Amino acid sequence: MSRKPFLAGNWKMFKTGEQAAEFIGQFKSVAASLGDRDIALAVPATALETAAKAAQGSPLIIGAQNLFWEKEGAFTGEISAPMIKGAGATMVIIGHSERRQFFGDTDEKVAKKLAAALADGLLPVVCVGENLSERENGKTLDVLSTQLTGSLAGLSAEAAASIVVAYEPVWAIGTGKSASEGEAQEVHVFLRRRLKETFGAEAADRIRIIYGGSVKPENAALILAQSEIDGLLVGGASLKVDSFTKIVQSPYAG
Ligand code: PEP
Repeated sequence: MSRKPFLAGNWKMFKTGEQAAEFIGQFKSVAASLGDRDIALAVPATALETAAKAAQGSPLIIGAQNLFWEKEGAFTGEISAPMIKGAGATMVIIGHSERRQFFGDTDEKVAKKLAAALADGLLPVVCVGENLSERENGKTLDVLSTQLTGSLAGLSAEAAASIVVAYEPVWAIGTGKSASEGEAQEVHVFLRRRLKETFGAEAADRIRIIYGGSVKPENAALILAQSEIDGLLVGGASLKVDSFTKIVQSPYAG
């Protein structure tokens, strides 16, 4: 089944609103010229509204990097799905490994955030990935299976079909050491199989599974050439218009 590729940047804790507007001003014509793929940027919460305004009139998708599952309340420092939507954004990353590692995001919390994102019509990008010792001890697939089951708990097949899953090996994030295209493909095949077992073939075939971890202009095309890799989640290399442009323009095998 052919899935529309999904290429997203994750700016992490970089860029002010002004810097976001400047980037998007230069980049949005690139996004507009690539109608065969979805292109997105997950920006800091403080830049959401400015970024969404700057992207207006182009197909560039603007998203947040996290959310809290309650709609509002006494939750100092958090932002909710309606707030993200109200800022003009339409996507949200959930369960990024940096959230899991530094801010206590467990699979259970990820599942609650996912339900909240879907309830407000945001496109969720749910991240899973093993760390180095798990990989070295041969536990990669077990860990991913547990994360996937826990993070997508309670999801209907219909809702599942609309989400994006990002495979991001923790040892490859921000390290300059990407998974090889073969390693990534092997995991994506496994994730698709697990998704089929959980949600059925029809829904699972529609879920886009993207790869993230030290993607650069030099390795993007090779990774995208893998049949089960439906796109990319790009951290460091999405911060410069030049490198992100090269990445999103990479040929896609389909
Ligand atoms: C990320 O932040 O999701 C990521 C993959 O980072 P990097 O591309 O810098 O490894």
